[in-house]
Amino acid sequence: METEANRLDRDGGFPEQAFAFLNACGAMTAPLPRRFGGLGAGTEPEAGDAMLRLLRLVGHGSLAVGRLYEGHVNAIRLIVRYGTEAQQQRAAEDARAGHLFGIWVTDGSDPLRLLVADGGLLLQGGKLFASGARHVTRPLVTAQPEAGPPRMLVVPLGVDRHARDTLGGVHGMRGACTGSCDFTGVRPGEDAVIGAPGDYLRQPEFSAGAWRGIAVALGGIDRLVDALRDQLRARGRHEGPHQLVRIGEALIARETAAMWASRASRVAEQPGHAEGDVIAVVGLARIAAEQAALDVIRLVQRGLGLGVFLQDNPAERVMRDLATYLRQPAPDETLCEAAGWFTTRDLPA
Ligand SMILES: Cc1cc2nc3c(=O)[nH]c(=O)nc-3n(C[C@H](O)[C@H](O)[C@H](O)COP(=O)(O)OP(=O)(O)OC[C@H]3O[C@@H](n4cnc5c(N)ncnc54)[C@H](O)[C@@H]3O)c2cc1C
Repeated sequence: METEANRLDRDGGFPEQAFAFLNACGAMTAPLPRRFGGLGAGTEPEAGDAMLRLLRLVGHGSLAVGRLYEGHVNAIRLIVRYGTEAQQQRAAEDARAGHLFGIWVTDGSDPLRLLVADGGLLLQGGKLFASGARHVTRPLVTAQPEAGPPRMLVVPLGVDRHARDTLGGVHGMRGACTGSCDFTGVRPGEDAVIGAPGDYLRQPEFSAGAWRGIAVALGGIDRLVDALRDQLRARGRHEGPHQLVRIGEALIARETAAMWASRASRVAEQPGHAEGDVIAVVGLARIAAEQAALDVIRLVQRGLGLGVFLQDNPAERVMRDLATYLRQPAPDETLCEAAGWFTTRDLPA
């Protein structure tokens, strides 16, 4: 995956080879519930740890592939949680047939709207920051109806879509082919709509899923810690006391992120936790992982020096990918809400 990620960062294009690997090893159907022939990874509580390990491994290989794969898992999870039996069945068949799911919820200047026209549904507007904009064939999108909260829909897409898989000159995560898709004029069937009004924003599910992004980012942190140790050793600089301090601090940051990721995934996946606890723990984990990743990037830059800014250094792209991937929505609000929640209580033992 890493070899392909380096090539795509330079030349552009979709990580076809990585998804061929993921298909071949069963990762694309792993999130399906076991009754549909999957492993329940990310959809059933017992397999939460397995999904964490898988996302971390994929993130280690390529953060861009990790982002796309996490979207696939997220969309399947929402269909399993809120879809009808027939919709779940269809999603399972699609996943087995090799379709890539994604989750496109971010709106641009022309937000996606769900209208009723000529006795059927009609989409108008589009999505921005859509990863795999020209390659995801089963995007789960949110669309605003004329009244009420946004609705979720799975809109099957072929090659004839109106999409761009770049936003032009992005700093990192180029291999995620994050772009825009215009749905104006698409007429989804009634059975494309997943769940009831309000389901997309329903808590704690809405916030809890962020743990999967943390797991992917953790894989990027792993890769940078490896690069720091390997490259210092290769240059015979690993025994300098300042470098040892940096290695130690990087290992501490990595383990901090790993412990938060594990805590967040367990609180999110295991039943029985209070809604506010889930939201706040996942929120703190997001900020902790972001801080750990930024610390590791700083340590790698200081420890390896100018050489790590050269484009043929494998850590150079990983740092750009990671720094870009860390830009997730509303970090200030996330931290303040979590801090407010835990000002008056602790997570029950
Ligand atoms: C690689 C990558 C792939 C992505 N793929 C997808 C995808 O497939 N589908 C999808 O839907 N989205 C995707 N996204 C978009 C993502 O979901 C978020 O929309 C995006 O990451 C938000 O980042 P931001 O920095 O613009 O966040 P913002 O929330 O705009 O935060 C930027 C800063 O503004 C602050 N801030 C936020 N709100 C306020 C306010 N009201 N007042 C004052 N300050 C405020 C924040 O705390 C932060 O400091 C992707 C993003 C990345 C990086």
